[in-house]
Amino acid sequence: MGLALVALAAIAFVPLWQRHSGYSARLPAPLPNARPAPMPPAQAAWSTPLSKQCAVNDRALVARLKAQREGHASNLKRVQIDPSNYAQRAAHDAFGNPLSATPTLVVLHETVFGLQSALNTFIKHNPRDADQVSYHLLIGENGDAVEALHPRFRAYGAGYSAFDGEWAVLNPELPGSINNFALHLSLETPLDGENNASGHSGYSSAQYDSLAVVLADWMKRYHIPKERITTHRHVDLGAERADPRSFNWQALQQRLAALGMLC
Ligand SMILES: [Zn+2]
Repeated sequence: MGLALVALAAIAFVPLWQRHSGYSARLPAPLPNARPAPMPPAQAAWSTPLSKQCAVNDRALVARLKAQREGHASNLKRVQIDPSNYAQRAAHDAFGNPLSATPTLVVLHETVFGLQSALNTFIKHNPRDADQVSYHLLIGENGDAVEALHPRFRAYGAGYSAFDGEWAVLNPELPGSINNFALHLSLETPLDGENNASGHSGYSSAQYDSLAVVLADWMKRYHIPKERITTHRHVDLGAERADPRSFNWQALQQRLAALGMLC
């Protein structure tokens, strides 16, 4: 019996990557009386626009991004946001099932209004659930990267949402979301995008540079594959979100490849 218990405990702690390929995450044991959580509604599968690429001919781009990566940790700006706008990552869902304590998905957004306007909302104490919002990181039009929340915390970046049949239900009264396993990153919208039009003039070259450097850091640190970099538009189950609008996947492709992340 002792051995059987040891064997059971061993199964509970087998890293997820040994059971499913794709991404790695360690899970705690289920709580006693754990029961199945409701599944998200059907949703289109995510097909990443990023493809495998090992060679990059643009040597200036490679040199520029590698230099930026060297300076990333020291150039990262940090802002303290109000605790009403984030939480700990939960270790179990509302039904006692284990959840990954480390992020396994990146969700891209845009701010629509300026970066400072987004930060002002996160810094404010928001007692009403509906007003609570945050991203982990924002990238200004000038390329500045601002960390608003450390990745170990749960940002409130997406409400009713799922990714490839996966969400976490933390309150049995409410539908689930991807927030518990997501990293939320938002690009500052250009001035001509401060509206609800379907597109705008796009993001700056400096923004794509910083985006690639931040993503490369997260992909390495949390073993997140390129297939798990997605958009708010895709994960949103309310069909309300369209961000990030006018996103240039080719610009990101070139830069992630230059950093050796797509090989
Ligand atoms: Zn969004």
